[in-house]
Amino acid sequence: MARKKFLSLTAVAAAAALSLSACSPSATESSEESSSADGSKKGGSGESLTIGIKFDQPGLGFREGSNDPTGFDVEVARFVAKEMGVDEADITWVQTPSANRENALENGEVDMIFATYSITDERKERVAFAGPYFVAGQDLLVRADEEEITGPDSLDGKNLCSVTGSTSAQKIKDEYSQGVNLVEQGGYAECVTYLESGQVDAVTTDDIILAGLAGTEANKGKFKVVGDPFSVERYGVGLNKDNDTCQQINDAIQKMKDEGVWEEALKSNTEGTGYEADDELNSGADAEFESCD
Ligand code: GLU
Repeated sequence: MARKKFLSLTAVAAAAALSLSACSPSATESSEESSSADGSKKGGSGESLTIGIKFDQPGLGFREGSNDPTGFDVEVARFVAKEMGVDEADITWVQTPSANRENALENGEVDMIFATYSITDERKERVAFAGPYFVAGQDLLVRADEEEITGPDSLDGKNLCSVTGSTSAQKIKDEYSQGVNLVEQGGYAECVTYLESGQVDAVTTDDIILAGLAGTEANKGKFKVVGDPFSVERYGVGLNKDNDTCQQINDAIQKMKDEGVWEEALKSNTEGTGYEADDELNSGADAEFESCD
């Protein structure tokens, strides 16, 4: 299938600030408590949800301090929650780094996860997925003046950063590990800090994540996304295996697409990064892919 390429040389956020949030403990942070001090639920519907997101991925899941979180994942989550009768004020946002997602769902720390969370058979052994609500591809981020690294086959002798518990790190271990020195971090923003300082030569994860990190104001002009995706990452809504909400979530995602809200959310959250989603994979050509099974 033809994948649209993108080049992201422009940028928009502070890797230093980002790496701070990436270091913070998972699943503990929230400024929007779902219950008041006496334990009663807020809001009209009486329903609440605890949703796992990333805090350090600009344009996808991003949060500084107790500010409202922003990003495409967050907007999809808000839409789905609304369809389930849960107002925004009744969502508790929890940080779920890549390595913590299955645990957070299994132990009930979160009700659902919207965190660039690829649907995989291995993960399905522990958790369930609704979706996919987006399809991305694994790519490489390099310094703007990099000329040698043009794809995963040109990484020999290079230091490559990715995140523990991600499909991105796993793919490198499985398929490209010979000659590559894989450095694992807790979040991608930390990897970008390493890339800037020269401790690593490239960062690998999904193209949309890399575009968001390279597109921040602070990173403007420093990095480029190679633009040759080498995997298909279907972003699912992570759920506990005992859920009874999977179909309801899929219906909500469909509604978000039908109403044009999905496209608008994607556009506004990737604007200025140079990112172009793969239209073919995202327009339903991938519709044979089943979830809620
Ligand atoms: N989508 C990939 C994954 O689920 C990489 C991004 C991430 O670590 O969240 O592992």
